[in-house]
Amino acid sequence: MVRLDLHIHTKFSFDASITAEEIRERCRELGLSGVAITDHNSFEAARAWAEELSDLKIIPGEEVRSRHGEIIGLFLREKVPGGLTAEETMARIKEQGGLVCVPHPFDYVKLHRLSSTDLLRMRDFIDFLEGLNGKPRFGGANDKAMRFAREHSFLMSGGSDAHSATHLGRVYTEMPDFSGPQEFMESLKAATLHGDRYSTWSGQLGRWKARLRRSAR
Ligand SMILES: [Zn+2]
Repeated sequence: MVRLDLHIHTKFSFDASITAEEIRERCRELGLSGVAITDHNSFEAARAWAEELSDLKIIPGEEVRSRHGEIIGLFLREKVPGGLTAEETMARIKEQGGLVCVPHPFDYVKLHRLSSTDLLRMRDFIDFLEGLNGKPRFGGANDKAMRFAREHSFLMSGGSDAHSATHLGRVYTEMPDFSGPQEFMESLKAATLHGDRYSTWSGQLGRWKARLRRSAR
C-alpha cells in the first residue's frame, strides 16, 4: 500500500510556500509515500521536483483554473493553460494521458465551480472527484462530495490542499501501489481516504487578518 497526499501547492503557486525539502521532511515525519504536486496554473515544481524527490512517489499535476472552476490534472507531461472552458481543460489533460479530478466539488465559497449538473454532464471526462479535501470553508462540503460521488458512482481521492508545510499530509489517500495512470485508476477502487479538514472560518479569518496586517505595514 502507498499513502499519498494527492493535492498540494508548492512555492510555485502564488499563494503557497512549500519547498522540495519540506515535502521530503513531512512525508518522512508522517509516513507518507509521496504527493501529487498540483500548483495553481504552474507545472514548474511538478516537472522539476519529481527527479529531486526521486526517493518519494511524486505525481506531476496541476490545478488548472478553467473558466468554469478548478480542475486537477494528474500524470501530466506538460502545463495545461488556464482560462479555457472546463471541457477544453479536461480534453488537454486527457490528450497527454493524464487523469481528470474535480477538486472540492462542493466548496460553495468558490466563485467559479462546476455544478452537480455539470459534473454529471461531463462525467465521461472526469476520472474521479476529490471526496476529502483539507480546506473547504464549510464542514459539510466533504460529506456532500462523498455522498454525491457514491450516489453517482464516481471514484474518490483525498488530498490536503496544503499551501504550507504544516498542512501537508493532513488528508491523504491510502491505496495499493501502482505505476502509471491506468494502474492508479485500478488502485483507486480500493482506496481509503484519511484525515480531516484543518481549515475553518475562524482559521480563514485569522489568515485574512494576517494578510491585512502584512499589507498595512
Ligand atoms: Zn488546491
